Amino acid sequence: MSSKSAEAYINFNELDPDFKYEISKLPGGENIKYCFACGTCSAGCPVREIDEKYNPRRIIRMALLGIKDRVLSSDLIWLCSSCYTCHERCPQGVRITEVMNVLKNIAVREGYIHPSFIKQLELIAAHGRLYEMDEFDNKKRERMGLPPVATKCTEVSKIFEVTGILKVVSKSKSEE
Ligand code: SF4
Ligand code: SF4
Repeated sequence: MSSKSAEAYINFNELDPDFKYEISKLPGGENIKYCFACGTCSAGCPVREIDEKYNPRRIIRMALLGIKDRVLSSDLIWLCSSCYTCHERCPQGVRITEVMNVLKNIAVREGYIHPSFIKQLELIAAHGRLYEMDEFDNKKRERMGLPPVATKCTEVSKIFEVTGILKVVSKSKSEE
């Protein structure tokens, strides 16, 4: 009996043949169809080095095949650190880093947002940064001869309000 999980198989009923066109219409996704699955991106990816479940070639192949929901709902697309190593090395000029950004943007539009990004957005909305700064931090800065920084950053929450990002996030289908 095969030990492969259900995820290893392609279910033809779940394929969306238009997914590659949807990606290629968005800025950064234009070259996805040039991928010939050489694997150079995966071979040099620093994220893959520490987590072999992450495989940019596989993600691109799944996207080209139209396995849309599985790609968009996957945690893996959020692991790309945007280091651009694959971008530099891809012989087909696929611009994988930007394809990953396109996939993340479509995922957000479809309501799939990784919980860690939601937490980061909430922190940035509350403090204007990924962590809260207070006068204790400014005292440390003063001791090191650094100028003080504002402990509140209301501009960011205004940007969030104008863009409506927190409303988008509140509709996320991702589980905490
Ligand atoms: S390096 Fe480029 S052509 Fe090769 S698998 Fe990755 S995206 Fe496809
Ligand atoms: S940009 Fe993303 S996919 Fe490409 S090598 Fe860096 S971490 Fe890997």
